[in-house]
Amino acid sequence: MIRKYIFVNGLVQGVGFRPFVYKIALENNLKGFIRNSSIGVTMDVEGDKKSIDDFIDALKKRGPEMLNIEEIIIEDRPIVNYRTFEIEKSIHEDQGITFISPDLGICKECQEEIKDKKNNRYGYPFTNCTNCGPRYSIIKALPYDREATTMSSFKICRLCNEEYNSLSSRRFYAQPNCCPSCGPKLKLVDKLGNIVDTQEPIKETVKLIKEGKILSIKGIGGFHLVCNGKNQESIELLRRKKHRKTKSFALMMKDVETIKKYCILSIEEEKVLSSNKRPIVILNKLKDILPDNIAPDNLTLGVMLPYTPVQYLLFEDDLDVLIMTSANLNGMPIIYDNKEAIDKLVSIVDYHLMNNRDIYTSVDDSVSRVILGSERVIRRGRGYSPTYLKGEYFKESLSLGSHLKNSFCFCKDGNMILSQYIGDLDNMETLNRYDRVMETLRNIHNINPELVAYDFHPNVFSKDYLNKFKGKKIGVYHHHAHIASVLFENREKGRVIGVAYDGSGYGDDGTIWGGEFLLSNCRDFKRVGHLNLVAMPGGDRAARDPLRMTISYLYNIYKDSLEDKIQELGGILNYNQDSYFKVKTNMYIEMMKKEINSPKTSSMGRFFDAVAYLLGFNKKITFEGEAALYLENICTLGERGSYEFDIDVINGKYIINTDKILIGIIKELKDKISKRVISMSFHNTIIKFTVDLCVKISEDYGIKKVALSGGVFQNKILLEGIYNSLKKKGFIVYINRKIPCNDGGISVGQLVIANEKIVYL
Ligand code: ZN
Ligand code: FE
Repeated sequence: MIRKYIFVNGLVQGVGFRPFVYKIALENNLKGFIRNSSIGVTMDVEGDKKSIDDFIDALKKRGPEMLNIEEIIIEDRPIVNYRTFEIEKSIHEDQGITFISPDLGICKECQEEIKDKKNNRYGYPFTNCTNCGPRYSIIKALPYDREATTMSSFKICRLCNEEYNSLSSRRFYAQPNCCPSCGPKLKLVDKLGNIVDTQEPIKETVKLIKEGKILSIKGIGGFHLVCNGKNQESIELLRRKKHRKTKSFALMMKDVETIKKYCILSIEEEKVLSSNKRPIVILNKLKDILPDNIAPDNLTLGVMLPYTPVQYLLFEDDLDVLIMTSANLNGMPIIYDNKEAIDKLVSIVDYHLMNNRDIYTSVDDSVSRVILGSERVIRRGRGYSPTYLKGEYFKESLSLGSHLKNSFCFCKDGNMILSQYIGDLDNMETLNRYDRVMETLRNIHNINPELVAYDFHPNVFSKDYLNKFKGKKIGVYHHHAHIASVLFENREKGRVIGVAYDGSGYGDDGTIWGGEFLLSNCRDFKRVGHLNLVAMPGGDRAARDPLRMTISYLYNIYKDSLEDKIQELGGILNYNQDSYFKVKTNMYIEMMKKEINSPKTSSMGRFFDAVAYLLGFNKKITFEGEAALYLENICTLGERGSYEFDIDVINGKYIINTDKILIGIIKELKDKISKRVISMSFHNTIIKFTVDLCVKISEDYGIKKVALSGGVFQNKILLEGIYNSLKKKGFIVYINRKIPCNDGGISVGQLVIANEKIVYL
């Protein structure tokens, strides 16, 4: 007989690992124990050598689906003659970290139980097991035990406890295990919080939704606003009440068959949709059967499958599509507390379907899109967060992330911990949420950063926030962080041509960057090219008003003669529709002439805005990327046309001169060429100049590797076009996969760069 001490860490808690180990220990007739601690799982086993070998083999090969062992340490120990195999009480240790499991969508077995009239969990909306249910959103501390979650306030009943202790049960050691007699309960209340007298809150909810009502429904990581996805009036009402003009609403559909009725679904997309992460997946619409105010002027829909028992129970044959959008007020973080929902949503909803299981950490739904055959995560939230990545040689560190679409990132003991999507840090509420999530993760993992990375932008939140920390502070440029996020994800240590296309970020020359070619590794970068500089008349306002950018790009071409030119371009600029037009445009021109509040930008996002206006996007922008999305959506795919452009060399830098592109577009507008064709030609032009410039830089520096990042690469036509063209030219091309290419990935880049820089400081 021999004895082995085995330690594992990684994603080993909250995924059904202890029950699995218990089973294989008994199968192999081993004695000893297994124990969770705050840094991992310890096993101590005695038995004959072959049995222990089989046991270790099973550990490595047969574990539960979500199990991810990062490290395994095996040591010999002297025999102590254990009598039994036990699951021991968890302990707290100080060194190292263990991973928190993300929240998991309901599994097949649990789905069947809630539909089975003979099962005691028939219709029970909080059914879960070791394979599914809430995790991160209810965890207050590690080790992962019921007492350390918000389930601690529910006393487990005799039957549930039997399952919890029964080896043959799927709920063996399932921490949030509960049933109708001991677990959380649903409560339907009106908008003022008065209880609706009903024995069947779900049936009543379904009835209300069918009547056209708007409800808030508590999910895993927060509340959703819900209405019938086929009721145009309800959706319109929700838009008005939520002050959400055009941004698409996410949908939840009954099942995969239903999704296929409304969307084109590839095998890969179906896989992503049905995974236990259950993200929102951006899918191409099949036909215009659903109301068009779900996603106005959009060829795609954001769709997810139900992931909680409550959600499963809401669907019926004639109620198979629901609007399921995060419950928040404009620009504010998602609401996750019952009282807060009643206080804040009073002017939006008619009823709330809530429950008494508290959410400890809020998590938004995740968003993914399948591009170039693989999942590209656009927003990391529920099911994906927290994310653990390897940062082997990194110091104990923190990166604060970007101002928009914020996430932040820690590193401890070689493990990077990427937070969920927090939102735009524009208001106190979101900043408070940021602080809360950061403190929660920091406490759970006991992190004291010696190094803090932040964005160089002079007036973002992070300057104040930085003072909270004692560690060394390292500033990072926004677009360098974008490129570093791709390099890190692709394990590329060398220098590449980094193409960063996005809305805006602070550059090292004080202008606003966003159309950049950087010769870059994870430590340093050199800016070798960019889009030509244009003014943003009115500063940030220009980012919300495409007309200003159009005038600015035209000013670049026509300079002081633009005022006369505008008369001539009248029709193209929608001149006649707005009596203040002349007054407005003259004012913008004046501002640019006198350089009043007209910062310079090389942003690709602003270039898209300007062209979008010319092609009919004649309104204010209500969310980031809206105008670019419009252009992507109107493209006639397959058109091969493109516009002339110049790549100038100024002060040793390549400058993409956009003048001829705009002149070409205006000419085609005058010739009455379809806007859809023009938009496609515009995309083709960007693909062309990007590839041309990569080739030039490659010839200059002998580098054949390109990294693409920045929010503009959410545009499928551009990403696929540039990726494929570069490949054809023999380049190795890196793109984001797990880490969002938008600002949600900035914190990863910041952390990587700071840890690289510190080595040389
Ligand atoms: Zn389950
Ligand atoms: Fe960015």
